[in-house]
Amino acid sequence: MKTIISRQKIRSPFVAKVEELSGQNLLACYQCGKCSAGCPAISQMDLPPNQVIRYAQLGLKDELINSNTMWICASCLTCNVRCPKGINIAEVMEALRQVLLRQRKDHVDINKLSTKEKSELPPIALVGNFRKTTS
Ligand code: SF4
Ligand code: SF4
Repeated sequence: MKTIISRQKIRSPFVAKVEELSGQNLLACYQCGKCSAGCPAISQMDLPPNQVIRYAQLGLKDELINSNTMWICASCLTCNVRCPKGINIAEVMEALRQVLLRQRKDHVDINKLSTKEKSELPPIALVGNFRKTTS
């Protein structure tokens, strides 16, 4: 996918909404990568957490909403503790999820999982998913 950066995207309502919902100043991030280096779930993410912050700074909404990273994020808060700029990255992940959930867009629909899939999932995964659904 071709990525286009523009002033309109950087100043878009999407960026403002993510900052408002998360309470974070995205521009404080200087891309040191410490958040990603400590993330226990990074092997399953298609964008590392520092890149999510960078994309959010640039207002790259399409790239972000097509990423699996905010759904994989376990809200463990390791990144928050490691960030030298005091950015709460986990809150940014939650804000990105909220933007989509408010549009009634679920990443996982538990009702569509087969009985076999449900029986093989660890219960904590199902419980965690309840925080990430519209229903
Ligand atoms: S809160 Fe999410 S992004 Fe941050 S370290 Fe934990 S799993 Fe990774
Ligand atoms: S640790 Fe903080 S400053 Fe460093 S890349 Fe992550 S969000 Fe940015």
